Amino acid sequence: MAILVINAGSSSVKFTLFNADGKTVQAAGIVERIGFDGTRLKYRNREGRAYDQLVSVADADQAVGTILAALTHPARGAIRSIQEIVAVGHRVVHGGESLNRPTVIDDQVKSIISEYCRLAPLHNPPNLAGIEAGARHIPNAVQVAVFDTAFHATIPRHAFLYALPLHFYTEDRIRRYGFHGISHKYVSEEAARFLRLPVDGLRMITCHLGNGCSMTAVKEGRSIDTSMGFTPLEGLVMGTRCGDIDPAAVLHLMEHHRLSPAVMSDLLNKQSGLLALAGIGSNDLRDVIAAAEGGNPAAGVALDIFCYRIRKYIGAFTAAMGGLEVLVFTAGIGENSPEVRHRVCAGLDASDGFGIVLDSGKNARTSGQTRAIQAEASRVKILVVPTNEELEIARETLQILAG
Ligand code: ADP
Repeated sequence: MAILVINAGSSSVKFTLFNADGKTVQAAGIVERIGFDGTRLKYRNREGRAYDQLVSVADADQAVGTILAALTHPARGAIRSIQEIVAVGHRVVHGGESLNRPTVIDDQVKSIISEYCRLAPLHNPPNLAGIEAGARHIPNAVQVAVFDTAFHATIPRHAFLYALPLHFYTEDRIRRYGFHGISHKYVSEEAARFLRLPVDGLRMITCHLGNGCSMTAVKEGRSIDTSMGFTPLEGLVMGTRCGDIDPAAVLHLMEHHRLSPAVMSDLLNKQSGLLALAGIGSNDLRDVIAAAEGGNPAAGVALDIFCYRIRKYIGAFTAAMGGLEVLVFTAGIGENSPEVRHRVCAGLDASDGFGIVLDSGKNARTSGQTRAIQAEASRVKILVVPTNEELEIARETLQILAG
C-alpha cells in the first residue's frame, strides 16, 4: 500500500510516494518545464538513486502518466503496480471559506475548487488539472484535497475583514485568506513536538521565508492572523512580490502610466520584491547577500527592507497574541540563512521587551534537522524547522482514510 502526494503547478508536477505509514518516502521527484522546451523528469528512489531525463510531456495528465510509469518501472521503480496506491493527496492552494479541511474529492468538491479559480487564477487551475489526472490514471485510489488556505480558517473576523463596504465581502468574497497554511501548520506542530510542550499552551510566530514569504501568528495551535491576504501578494517583501503597499500608490501608477490591471499585476507579482530592490537581475537571496557583502548599496538596502518587514510583523503578531513563546524560521531562506535570522532578531533582545536572543554559534550551524538556536538568556525559544508540506499532506490524507 502506498500514498501518492501530488503538487501540480503551472509548469511542474511534484510528487512524493509514501509507504502506507504516511512517513517513509519511497520515491520523489518532479516533472518540470511542462509546456516549454526541455521538459524533464527528475526522480529519486528510496535508496537515493537518482535520474534526470528529458520527457515528452505536454500537460498535467501526461506528467502524471510519466510519473506512474517511473514509479512502476520494473528496475528503478518503487511499486509493482498502480493498484498499490490507495490514496492520492493533492495540494490545492485555494479552498475559500467552504473547503477548510482535508476533503475527499467528488464532483461537488471539484466544482467548488473550480469556482475558486476566480480567486486563485494562477494556482487552482493547475491544481484541478492534477486532480483530474490523478483520478483518470489511478481510478481506484481515494483522491483527497489538502488546502493551503485551510489552516487559516480559524482567523477571526476582525483579522480577516478588510475595511471596505461589507457587500464586497458577502458578495465578492474579498477578505484575508492566507496561504502557505500546510507549511505553517506542519512547522508549528513540529516545533511543539520538538519542545515537548502542548501546542495549546503556546504563542508562536512561524516565518515561512522562501521565494514566497509569509508569517503566521499561531495561538494555541490555531492560526489567528497571517501576513498574506486575499492573494499571496500582501505582507512581506518576497523574491519578486512587493508585499504591503498603499493601494493608492497602485491606483496612481495605473492612472499615471496608463497600466492595465494585467500589466500592474505582473509588475507587483513578478517584477518587484528583492528582484526590483537589489537590481542585480536575481531574486535569489544568496545573490542579494553576496552583492551586499561585495559593497552593492542597493542590494544592502534590499536586505534591510526584507528583514525590517519581518521584524515589523513579529511586533504586530506578538501584540495580536498578547505575547510570544516561540519564533520559528522555515523554508529556503528561513532554514538556510543565518544572516537573515540574525538581522531579523537584532534589536529584539531587551529582556523587558521581546526577549528574543539568538546564540550566534547555533545560528551559524547548518543542518537539515529541527533545532533550537536561542541563547540561554532568551525568553523566547527560536527554532529552525525544515518544512515538509508533502509529509503534512500525506498525514492529512491518511487521517481521511482512517475516517
Ligand atoms: P519556494 O518558495 O519556491 O518553495 P524555497 O523555500 O525553496 O522556495 O526557497 C527558495 C529561496 O531560498 C531561494 O530563492 C533562495 O533565495 C533561498 N535560499 C536557499 N538557500 C539559501 C541560503 N543558503 N542562504 C540564503 N538564501 C537561501
